[in-house]
Amino acid sequence: MSSNTPTLSPILLMARHAAALRAEGHDVVDLTLGEPDFSPPAHVLAATQSGLGQKLGYSPSNGIPELRRAIQTNLLTKHHLSYDDDQIAVGCGAKQVIFNAFSASLRPGDEVIIPAPYWASYPDMVKMNGGTPVIVPTALSNGFRLTPEMLLGALNERTRWVVLNAPGNPSGTLYSEDELRGLAEVLEGFPQTFVLSDDIYSHIRYTPEAYATLAAAPKLFERTLLIDGVSKAYAMTGWRVGWGCGPANLISAITSVQSQNCTQTSTLSQLAAIAALSGPQEFLEERAAIYRQRRDAALEVLRGSQALEVVEPEGAFYLFPKVSGVINDAKLALLLLEAGVATVPGSAFGMPGYLRLSFATDEALLVEGCRRLVASLEGAA
Ligand code: PLP
Repeated sequence: MSSNTPTLSPILLMARHAAALRAEGHDVVDLTLGEPDFSPPAHVLAATQSGLGQKLGYSPSNGIPELRRAIQTNLLTKHHLSYDDDQIAVGCGAKQVIFNAFSASLRPGDEVIIPAPYWASYPDMVKMNGGTPVIVPTALSNGFRLTPEMLLGALNERTRWVVLNAPGNPSGTLYSEDELRGLAEVLEGFPQTFVLSDDIYSHIRYTPEAYATLAAAPKLFERTLLIDGVSKAYAMTGWRVGWGCGPANLISAITSVQSQNCTQTSTLSQLAAIAALSGPQEFLEERAAIYRQRRDAALEVLRGSQALEVVEPEGAFYLFPKVSGVINDAKLALLLLEAGVATVPGSAFGMPGYLRLSFATDEALLVEGCRRLVASLEGAA
């Protein structure tokens, strides 16, 4: 095993602990997983069923043409962004496309800027592909935003990628067009740097403004990889379909990596993803409204505690409160587990002293989990 061998995700570890306790009969509210608790829409399930009647052979490594066309239409409608057929790569979830992108582009010594708090997989993926993660901590006081100054301070001639994930996991942070313009202006000075705009939560937002993506910055379009997929918006985590859209030469390299690992993601899942993108979309807003209601209910409980400081997330389905005076957030998460609520320690996201709570769970359970959290922190005070 090399020093770059990743450890098991702390999120999965906590989820396993919670599942083991529940199997023993303990009453544990599990707020660990970032997995929608909804089902995929009925037309997706119907497409999956009818796909079984087709010949499901190998299909192109960059995705079946009909799916790439559906992605083109989706991005044109969503962001007014136009991608050619050879600018789209489909993989086994957004996760694999990001991994393939690093694998296709990183050379030893290359740096990847990752603002913290971050999705726990980015640094491991960078290290597994020979790169060096450069973590840039952001602050709760400005809503966990990466500022142009922070970005400029971290960029240099070795920077191969900058990762921006909005709405963020675990922060819930969104960027306005103006804020993105400020970041884009800094990036214009570093033409060797790719931008990874991870937009996987772009349909789950709680602000009225239209969604802004760094991929739409005119001078960055040629070197930005926009990431999206069906896992979060369409509740299709297990289908494993995600995509990256960007410069044709990068997409071609990503496709070569894909062709040498798992060839393609499941042809059946791709048929279902076409149905997801081409079918009715109204339910996306309905679900976002439900998440929002849960967010507000949870916030009300958490804000009752002196021990917690919490920013209202603008998107995604996580709360990321800071726990005052906590020295070891991993230990705290284990203590909370004993008190009947499973959370993920902030150190898993590069921010010790915080906890992540997923509100992709039933509202009554969520509120009960937050009450248990607050009661144990108050008890410990
Ligand atoms: N990007 C972020 C920020 C995520 O939180 C996740 C999943 O949790 C992914 C990418 C991966 O999504 P997928 O299920 O499409 O691989």
